[in-house]
Amino acid sequence: MPATTTAVPPVAPTLPRAGTEIRLTDVVKDYGLAVPAVDGVSLTIEPGEFMTLLGPSGSGKTTTLNLIAGFETLTSGHIAFNGDDVGSLPPHKRNLGMLFQNYALFPHLTVAQNVAYPLRERKVPKAEISRRVAEVLELVQLPGRDDDVPAQLSGGQQQRVALARAIVFGPKALLLDEPLGALDRNLRGALQAEIQRIHREVGSTFVFVTHDQEEAMSLSDRIALFNSGRIEQVGTPETLYKAPETLFTASFLGDSTVFELAHVPGSSVGWCGHTWAVDPRTVSDRARAAEHAALVVRPEDVHIAPGGAAVPPDANGVPATVAEVHYLGSYRTVALSHADGTVGRARLDASETQLAVGQPVTAWWRVERQRIVAR
Ligand code: ADP
Ligand code: MG
Repeated sequence: MPATTTAVPPVAPTLPRAGTEIRLTDVVKDYGLAVPAVDGVSLTIEPGEFMTLLGPSGSGKTTTLNLIAGFETLTSGHIAFNGDDVGSLPPHKRNLGMLFQNYALFPHLTVAQNVAYPLRERKVPKAEISRRVAEVLELVQLPGRDDDVPAQLSGGQQQRVALARAIVFGPKALLLDEPLGALDRNLRGALQAEIQRIHREVGSTFVFVTHDQEEAMSLSDRIALFNSGRIEQVGTPETLYKAPETLFTASFLGDSTVFELAHVPGSSVGWCGHTWAVDPRTVSDRARAAEHAALVVRPEDVHIAPGGAAVPPDANGVPATVAEVHYLGSYRTVALSHADGTVGRARLDASETQLAVGQPVTAWWRVERQRIVAR
């Protein structure tokens, strides 16, 4: 930062800060079921990073978080904080903040006493406790509620208190397991924005678990996508959306049209009698090594022309029939049926030509906008 820039003072100036690197190496947790709950996970979470563990229910996200926290013991593998192995440390010695779906506040303690609890346990002097509690309640935007008990607060407010309690002692990292799962949609959006702001202001490492792809996309620096106890792909939200390696990743993050290919691509691919050009930059590494591949196109990249119309020279096209049209104000979504029962999806500006259900059309997309993934 140039010396002339005036630094904006942090909102919580006396809260301790910690950007901890969390490194998982070949982590396995086996409960003796058919497959291990966590089946060989390696992942480095950078200091200060907002990392989301995303995936379907049962894919091993919570187990991974519990292994980081020390609530579960490793079957094999290593976990290190800033290079120090923590595998044999009990949870309280790992010094992490935790936030769960159920607020887990002490019902008989006031807001201020709940938030002060981790500081009392750590024998922080009284004056310092009062200062930090006031500061963190300001940070989560709950000033003036010190003497209320949890039952007097709404669900969203209780979750703010739990968040304040989880960060007040300056944990090495904050682990959040579906913390917004119990809240209604509007409140969820508001608290997502809060969590993002607090991450920015506190600057510590956040590990956030969710099964909600939109929540993951909007909050995260990077996402680790889980599939059956393994990490399918790690990357920024944009990388996972635009450059998926596998059909699982492409399908979990957003909509697309999926053409299943019989062969791994060379300079062209065939599908139901059509031959399409392939830009080698759009072929994922995993697709190159895979036995089966698929060509995927995002709805915003699909264009629709009248049936039989020629497609631009740098585009691939395929005949289709309009199956559904949904008007959504600023845009329309169109479902297309292709040969072989494949369902296509397009997203069009509301101003583009009207389409009738049953109308024969040509769907086309630019060669560089398709992606070839492993399946
Ligand atoms: P997620 O958080 O992604 O929904 P979990 O980590 O909770 O998934 O679970 C992963 C798998 O491990 C599931 O099949 C689940 O049933 C199993 N599992 C989780 N905890 C235990 C346990 N304490 N004992 C036995 N199996 C468990
Ligand atoms: Mg879970």
